[in-house]
Amino acid sequence: MIDNATYAQIDRRIEENLDRYIDILARLCAQPSVSAQHLGIEPCAELVATILREEGFEAEIVPSAGNPVVVGRGEGRNPKTLLMYLHYDVQPAEPLELWESPPFELTRRGNRLYARGISDDKGHIAARLAALAAVRDVLGELPCTVKFVIEGEEEIGSPNMQRFVEDHRELLASDACIWEFGGVNVYGDPEMSLGMRGICYVELKVSTANRDAHSGLGGSIFPNAAWRLVQALNTLRDENGRILIDGFYENVRPPSPRDCEYLDRAPDESGVLREMYGLQRYLGAQSGLEWKIQAVFEPTCTVCGLTSGYQGPGSKTVLPAEATAKVDFRLVPDQTPEEVVGKLRAHLDRHGFEDVAITLLAAQRPAKVDPDDPFVQLTIAAARDVYDTEMVVQPIIGGSGPLYPFVSVLGVPVVSAGVGYSDSRAHAPNENVDLDYFVKGIRHTARIIAAFGEQ
Ligand SMILES: [Zn+2]
Repeated sequence: MIDNATYAQIDRRIEENLDRYIDILARLCAQPSVSAQHLGIEPCAELVATILREEGFEAEIVPSAGNPVVVGRGEGRNPKTLLMYLHYDVQPAEPLELWESPPFELTRRGNRLYARGISDDKGHIAARLAALAAVRDVLGELPCTVKFVIEGEEEIGSPNMQRFVEDHRELLASDACIWEFGGVNVYGDPEMSLGMRGICYVELKVSTANRDAHSGLGGSIFPNAAWRLVQALNTLRDENGRILIDGFYENVRPPSPRDCEYLDRAPDESGVLREMYGLQRYLGAQSGLEWKIQAVFEPTCTVCGLTSGYQGPGSKTVLPAEATAKVDFRLVPDQTPEEVVGKLRAHLDRHGFEDVAITLLAAQRPAKVDPDDPFVQLTIAAARDVYDTEMVVQPIIGGSGPLYPFVSVLGVPVVSAGVGYSDSRAHAPNENVDLDYFVKGIRHTARIIAAFGEQ
């Protein structure tokens, strides 16, 4: 058993090493790696591999169907293997004029460090390395074997991660995994998410003629693409958000009693969100457990954008020949994107909308980790020591990510722990990490590594 004195030593080591890992973070942030613009991707993969090697790990750059993936490995005392899933790509820095310092240059102001990707996700790469170094320094070796899988397409939806994990099962085989994000919520309490909704993102398109027409000529005799699309969309969902596609809910797994227990304990953010967005009311439940369940355990059908005809200033009497809608479905276990596309096609056909074309733009399966897994419990216990409070556990979050291949193909429990906080401004200008939360995230990660080696 690792005693408190040893943990205190690890904490001291983290403090002593802090500047070194801030330097590593500065090097990572200085290398742009914007996947949406294919900017600096290969050089950043090289840099990550170089840094892993400097830190004493083996590292190779493994090609994928998209951007290269950095895979690393470090032997430990115990063959039990802990996998770190991370990403080296970042969101575009634009709009540049809103940055108070250059986005690709780590800048310290007060207790915060600023740069694009400094929290999402380069700060997590540096924090994992800082935690591993401190544990290794104090214990003399790594207590468990560690693997890294650091991809370069997370910010564009990880389109190749499922395939990559399937193709490299052996290389990535492990017993548990720490996810790419984590940290504290708006109250400063550590928070962990144990699942992600899936996504099925489609474009719906209607063409009714080979060119736009004068609305006086065609208005009473031509079909209108915009109307046609709106009428098709109107069959998909009722005004309360209930999706009307036949069989849409048949694979929806309701939350378990344990899920509800954790949801019940999590803070109720219904008031804060309603105020933040200036909402009059929510679609269904207005607060409490029912609201929390509805927010993440129900699938959605969201019209993300509608395009047709004339949208400029003033009026243009035109009858549009084409109309498109971007629609995303957030999926819950055990729905699949393939199933939803099939049901959507059948639904449109049955309602006489055979002419509405569907193009699948993005797909990710939902996934959930067992909240009673010992590794989850270990992560919660490790946080108590660092944050002096109980971790808030979100059994599933509303967003999507490539969790499914890790849970289903590798079969590992996945936890989150990290350096994020409510003002991190990930994806936005002036992205930053707060040094106090940065150090806490490292301390928490170090405890997870040390305890996992003992488990
Ligand atoms: Zn991100």
